Amino acid sequence: MKAAVVRSFAEPLVIEERPVPTPAGHQVLVRMETSGLCHTDIHAAQGDWPVKPSPPFVPGHEGIGTVQAAGDRVSRLRVGDRVAIPWLGEACGHCDHCVSGWETLCLQQQNSGYSVDGSHAEYALAHGSYAVPVPDGIDPLDAAPLTCAGVTTYKAVKLSGVRPGTRALVSGIGGLGHLALQYARIFGAETIAVDVTDEKLALARELGADHVIDARVQNVAEEAQRLGGADAAISLAVSNESFGAAYGALRRGGTLVLVALPAEGTWELPVFDMVLNGTKVVGSIVGTREDLAEVFRLHLLGRTRVVREVRRLDDINSSIDEVLNGKVAGRLVFDLR
Ligand code: NAD
Ligand code: ZN
Ligand code: ZN
Repeated sequence: MKAAVVRSFAEPLVIEERPVPTPAGHQVLVRMETSGLCHTDIHAAQGDWPVKPSPPFVPGHEGIGTVQAAGDRVSRLRVGDRVAIPWLGEACGHCDHCVSGWETLCLQQQNSGYSVDGSHAEYALAHGSYAVPVPDGIDPLDAAPLTCAGVTTYKAVKLSGVRPGTRALVSGIGGLGHLALQYARIFGAETIAVDVTDEKLALARELGADHVIDARVQNVAEEAQRLGGADAAISLAVSNESFGAAYGALRRGGTLVLVALPAEGTWELPVFDMVLNGTKVVGSIVGTREDLAEVFRLHLLGRTRVVREVRRLDDINSSIDEVLNGKVAGRLVFDLR
């Protein structure tokens, strides 16, 4: 099978021929149909984060495909089922986080395309209980971005406390942001979109943003405060400076949800301002299997539009450059069929 492999953090990925793996125990073997390119794959390939994956590895955690074979302990999935392989590859299933609806915080978790090989390949292994069924009627090219960009921003919007009549700012209208904007609207918020390219700001308008701010030439905090300030701000831009700007956009009592993970991302908390204004800053990591099932249902109901372009896996390195240069509208998805 063909697989895109990170051999070293300093070099481009290599397209390799590898043997098709054999599923054992709880595993299923998935014939990949599509696999979305998340900015996290780029952080993984470049070793950007404090906890690094171990090369060689196959990135990819927006994988959609059909089950080809199953280990002897798989009971829920059948050969032929279409499933999504998300970032949460597996969790222990019995710690306090797992049993209280926070499996994404499990300390025993494995992450697809990071601690275990992921979906940028013709075949991938997944855990039979953590691969999420994809409902019939969802195009696999749409299902892929929903599997990380969708579920992550759906969860972040939930966590932000956005509800009808509130104002939400989305910082970064990329793969994640173009969906975050739509979920904020579904939750009833007035929306402010922030980005740094004309194309992304145009996309935000097209997707129904009530206001757009061009962070290249406008002061994000000032513009947002002019509108009354944001009850919630969701930080999706791969830029350290954008955190302060998004925080500065908050109203009193507002919540900043940190999602983006730029290399060596640090930011000093403005303690005096936070205490006096009663603001909150929270981190948010992907979403649970149930969150993803909800994301798929909303898409089936026609409530979300996935903006994506198709690429070949052979072009993974030029695709990464496109993302890094801010050239992509929405998401790039590899078609592996
Ligand atoms: P992306 O490259 O598709 O989107 C980033 C967007 O930010 C682009 O549209 C870019 O133009 C915009 N941007 C850059 N500088 C900006 C600025 N100063 N102000 C406003 N916008 C700016 O990336 P993505 O795939 O959407 O991922 C975004 C980040 O989220 C990455 O760091 C990724 O690793 C992270 N991520 C986190 C989670 C999680 O669970 N917390 C899940 C998935 C991805
Ligand atoms: Zn991702
Ligand atoms: Zn657990």
